[in-house]
Amino acid sequence: MAEIIIDTYQCSGCETCVEMCPDIFRIDEATEKAALVTTALEITDAVYQAAAFCPEKCIEILE
Ligand code: SF4
Repeated sequence: MAEIIIDTYQCSGCETCVEMCPDIFRIDEATEKAALVTTALEITDAVYQAAAFCPEKCIEILE
């Protein structure tokens, strides 16, 4: 099963990933960094696009 890893140290909290893929990404209120909505992930094209558009390049998809 695929896995999404967010490097929260690099994440700037810009919310690009949330806007592109709100089913998968959210902003953690405590840390103001990206987090996953669910661990039951389906890696769609939108997820790959969100990873590609992340300005900090901190979304990694492991397959
Ligand atoms: S797009 Fe990247 S830098 Fe922006 S909130 Fe998402 S993971 Fe963080």
